[in-house]
Amino acid sequence: MFFKLQILYFLVSIKVGKWFFNSGSMFLRNGLVRRLKNHLKQSPFYKPFVNNGFVINSFPIVNKKIFMDQFDQMNTRSLKLDQCMELALKAEASRDFSPMIRDISVGLSTGTSGNRGLFLTSVRERAMWVSCILDRVIGFSFKKRKIAFFLRANNNLYKAVQSGLLEFHFFDIFQSMDDHILKLNKLKPNIIVAQPSVLIQIASAIQSGQIFLSPGKIISVAEVLTPEDKSFLERIFLQNVHQVYQCTEGFLAATCTYGILHFNEDFLIIEKKYIDSEKTRFHPIITDLLRSTQPVVRYELNDILIEKENCACGSRMMAIECIEGRSDDVLVFKNQRNEKIKLFPDLFRKIIILSDEFVIDYCLIQKDFDYLKLYIHSDSFDSYKKVSAALINELEERGVENTFIERLGSSPFVIGEKKRRVKNEMC
Ligand SMILES: [Zn+2]
Repeated sequence: MFFKLQILYFLVSIKVGKWFFNSGSMFLRNGLVRRLKNHLKQSPFYKPFVNNGFVINSFPIVNKKIFMDQFDQMNTRSLKLDQCMELALKAEASRDFSPMIRDISVGLSTGTSGNRGLFLTSVRERAMWVSCILDRVIGFSFKKRKIAFFLRANNNLYKAVQSGLLEFHFFDIFQSMDDHILKLNKLKPNIIVAQPSVLIQIASAIQSGQIFLSPGKIISVAEVLTPEDKSFLERIFLQNVHQVYQCTEGFLAATCTYGILHFNEDFLIIEKKYIDSEKTRFHPIITDLLRSTQPVVRYELNDILIEKENCACGSRMMAIECIEGRSDDVLVFKNQRNEKIKLFPDLFRKIIILSDEFVIDYCLIQKDFDYLKLYIHSDSFDSYKKVSAALINELEERGVENTFIERLGSSPFVIGEKKRRVKNEMC
């Protein structure tokens, strides 16, 4: 009961905080900054950087590697990496995610680059997370709603929202999709939360008449939602597809009523590290003012984002035009002068879908500067030929000659991993 009261308390605080931020007042956000500063004094890693003022750029920029290397020093509860990793791995193997260390829940993320990340959350942080999700994603309703949640691990976070009005059903993405489809058909959820690759399988089952569902809300999480997948899903589900930009590092952004992602700037500080000369693409550097057990301060994500200006909804929170993928997904070639040419994943996505209208699914993997692997799923026999010719043509126009493309007979996508259609696998 206490937990639910906490959720209610934070829900009100978050709504008030959002209102202040959108009215142009930093009063409440500054209060969160002061609170975070106090917590950082308990972190051996951050303590030396806490001075009288909280000047964000006096703190070091960290990434996933530093976050894990300095795990013991960074957290404010004196927890050790070995102890937490053991608990998380046991939970992963047994698929029982209930054990905790004191009031701290330990989550494990594989991350798209394969390196493991651990995240710690206290009861208070879980209550705040739930409030944020209720406010920005689920929305409030007096009607009882069933939510189908597709996850790779049932972290204690997700069970927390269960109530008389919200009924959560966990779908383990490692289990058979056919079973899930049957279960969904019985459950008839009002809301489905899943990664695009799972949503597409559900939509295909609806399209083929295998199941009948009419959920009121579809929320895409965890993977990049491409414009073509989005329009396919919207066509089948007959509604806008909402998105949540969330990762181990926190709940970062959610879509507004116009379907545009906005950073939760009322409790996040977002800095932009531009990665192209036109200053359109950037890596976000995140400071989460709500996380205190394992502080997230100036954490650089390797996601590639494009900023959107002036969303029609009028929110002051920074809008995102698109999430292109990760910097690991930028493909690198060499031209005739042996200079490196970096090309963003979105370019390949466009070439592939525009070169043939019958392409249903695809994957492009780079193995070397002059060696690509290509998987094309299509109803037309000619698609593969058209796509590979378009790719070669584009590369040659950029001075990249003699690229070898190997055809993949089946999709390299592994269940449980994040689906990435353009990948750089060069060592
Ligand atoms: Zn908006």
